[in-house]
Amino acid sequence: MPNAFTYCPTCATTLQMLSQPEDGGPKSRLRCPACGWTHWNNPTPVLAAVIELADRDGQLLLARNAAWPGKAFGLITGFMEAGETPQEGIAREVHEETSLVVDSLSLIGVYDFQRMNQVIIAYHALARGEIVLSPELAEYRLFTPDTVRCWRAGTGYALADWLSARGHSPKWVEIPPRPADAARLESW
Ligand SMILES: [Zn+2]
Repeated sequence: MPNAFTYCPTCATTLQMLSQPEDGGPKSRLRCPACGWTHWNNPTPVLAAVIELADRDGQLLLARNAAWPGKAFGLITGFMEAGETPQEGIAREVHEETSLVVDSLSLIGVYDFQRMNQVIIAYHALARGEIVLSPELAEYRLFTPDTVRCWRAGTGYALADWLSARGHSPKWVEIPPRPADAARLESW
C-alpha cells in the first residue's frame, strides 16, 4: 500500500522515495522530484457498527461478506464519505447493507488497523426493521451477547469493548477471521 502511486497525480513524473525535513525530522516518503508532491499515505477512516436489534430482543447482527473465504462473520463496515459526519456515514452504511434503520448511535471507540492502513471508528447502533442484505453480503447471523465471539483485530476489539461495557465477558476466536476487519473494504 505505501507504493500505491507510481506517478505524480499532479505532473505525471515518476515518484521516488525521497527524504525531506519535516516537523519531526528528516522523513523518507514517496515524493515527486519535479513538483514536490508528497504521498502522505495517511490512514483511511473506516466506520463500523455493532448492530443491536431493538425489535429482536437486543440480538446482535453480524454479516459475512460474499468475497470472504470461509465462514467469518463481522461487523458492518464502510468507508466514510466526503460531506458526511461519522454518525451519518455509519447510519448510511447500516441501511445500505442491511436495510435496517438506525435509531441511535453511541461511539464505542477508535481502533487502528495498520495492515490495511485504516483507522476504525466503531459505533454501537441500535437499529430496527426488516433485514435485506446488499449483494455484497452473503448472509447474516444473529447472536446474543453470550454467544457472539470476538476476533483479535480492529473491529473485533470494538465488539469486545462494547460487550465488556455491558457487563459481558467477551469470548474470543483464537484464529482471527482474516477479512472480518476492514479488509472487505479494499479488494475484498
Ligand atoms: Zn509532480
